[in-house]
Amino acid sequence: MTAEKYDVVIIGGGINGVGVAQAAAAMGYSVLLLEKNAQLALETSGRSSKLIHGGLRYLESLEFSLVRESLKERELLLKLAPDLVRLQTFNIPVYNDTSRSALTLRLGLSLYALFAGLNKKHFYHQVKSVNWSELDGLQTKNLKTVFQYSDAQTDDTALTRAVMASAIGLGAECQCEAEFVRANVDKDKVTIQYQKNGVLKTVTTSALVNASGPWVCPVNKRIFPQSTILKPDLIQGSHLLVKTAISQAYYLEAPQDKRAVFLLPWKSHALLGTTEHVYQGDPVGMHVLDEEKNYLLKVYEHYFPEHEQELLATTTGCRVLLPAGASLSKRSREIHFEVDDAMQPRVISIVGGKLTVYRQTAIKIMSVLRKTLPVKKVIADTARLKLTPID
Ligand SMILES: Cc1cc2nc3c(=O)[nH]c(=O)nc-3n(C[C@H](O)[C@H](O)[C@H](O)COP(=O)(O)OP(=O)(O)OC[C@H]3O[C@@H](n4cnc5c(N)ncnc54)[C@H](O)[C@@H]3O)c2cc1C
Repeated sequence: MTAEKYDVVIIGGGINGVGVAQAAAAMGYSVLLLEKNAQLALETSGRSSKLIHGGLRYLESLEFSLVRESLKERELLLKLAPDLVRLQTFNIPVYNDTSRSALTLRLGLSLYALFAGLNKKHFYHQVKSVNWSELDGLQTKNLKTVFQYSDAQTDDTALTRAVMASAIGLGAECQCEAEFVRANVDKDKVTIQYQKNGVLKTVTTSALVNASGPWVCPVNKRIFPQSTILKPDLIQGSHLLVKTAISQAYYLEAPQDKRAVFLLPWKSHALLGTTEHVYQGDPVGMHVLDEEKNYLLKVYEHYFPEHEQELLATTTGCRVLLPAGASLSKRSREIHFEVDDAMQPRVISIVGGKLTVYRQTAIKIMSVLRKTLPVKKVIADTARLKLTPID
C-alpha cells in the first residue's frame, strides 16, 4: 500500500501548529496536523494568560522588535477575530513602595502607545483619585496614582480551534488522538509514523514541522537521522481562577519579589497569574504547587484585601525558553527555530514563542520551508482571513 503524501506535516495542535497549518494551506500546500490529545489546545495554548499583547514588561528587557511585532498582530487580530480578541482596560497602581516609579511607567506606556501606532484608543491616562472607588476594591492605602491603558484579551483555546477551522476551510487535515511515533528523513521526503486508535499509520511529506511545544526535544529524538537541537528550559507558569467578578484588568507588582502579576476578568470570575520557575521532567505530570498558590494569593490579598479568596480552579503550563543568564522574567520571548539542513530544510522545530505572534511565527516557518517545498498557487492571505469561534 502506498503511503499518503503531504507537502507539510505538523506535529502539535497548539497555537503554533495550527498557525503553520493555516499558513501552509493558504499557500496552497497539502497539510496534515497530528495532535496526540483528543482536542486541540489542551496544553500550553489553553493555559496561557490569554493576552494578545505586546508585553509591556518586555520593554524592560529591551525586546523592542518583539513588542512592536506583537502590537501589530494585536491590531490585526482585533479586526480579524472580533468575537475572540477584545480590548480590555488595564490598571497599573503605583504605591509609595512600588519599585517602578510613575516616571518609568509613563515612559513605558508612552513607548507602548508609540509602538501600537499612536492610535488614540491605545493612549494611557491617569485615573482621578475620585474614581479609585470604581476599581473593584483595589487597596487605596498609600496609593499614589493609577495608570490606565488598553490591551487585548482572548480565549486561547477558542482562538487555537478557530485558526485550525480556518486551515481546514483551506483544505488542511487535522487528526486528533494521533500521536507522532517516529520519522525518517531522506533526501527527497520524510516518512512519518503515527499511532491512531491503536493502529500505526504511515504518511510521507516534503517537510515536517515539530510544533510540539514543551515536547520539542522528546519529539526531535524520534526523528532520524538525529539532529541535535538546543535544549530549552521548561518554565512552569500557573494561574488561579478566583471567585470574584471584576470589571477591569490589573497589572500588579508582587510585593514578595517585584514580579508582574495579572488579575484579569475571566468568564464572570478573575484569573490570577502567573508564576515562573524551571520545571524538570515530563510536562504531563505538572501540577500547581502549594507555594505557587500561596504566592499568588498573597499578591491578591495585598491588593484586594476585602475580596474573598475562594479558588474555583487552577491551571498550569510550560513556557519553552532558551537558556540564558537573565532572570526568568527577563529571558527573551523571541521565537527560535532549529532546522535540520539550512540549504534544504526538511525538519523544522519551534522553540518558544507567544500566542500573540502565532501568525508571524507561521509566516517565518513557511519562508524557511519554501526552499524545500514546490511552488504552488497561493489561495489566501492569513492577514485577511476572518476567525470565528466554533462550537
Ligand atoms: C503560564 C503561561 C502564560 C502565557 N501567557 C501568554 C499570553 O498571555 N500571551 C501570549 O501571547 N503568550 C503567552 N504564553 C506563551 C504561549 O502560551 C505559548 O508560547 C504557546 O501557547 C505555545 O504554543 P505551542 O503550539 O508551541 O505549544 P502547545 O500549545 O503546548 O502545543 C503543543 C502540542 O503538541 C502536542 N504534542 C506533543 N507531543 C506530541 C506527539 N508526539 N504527537 C502529537 N502531538 C504531540 C501536545 O499535545 C500539544 O497540544 C504563555 C505561556 C505560559 C506557560
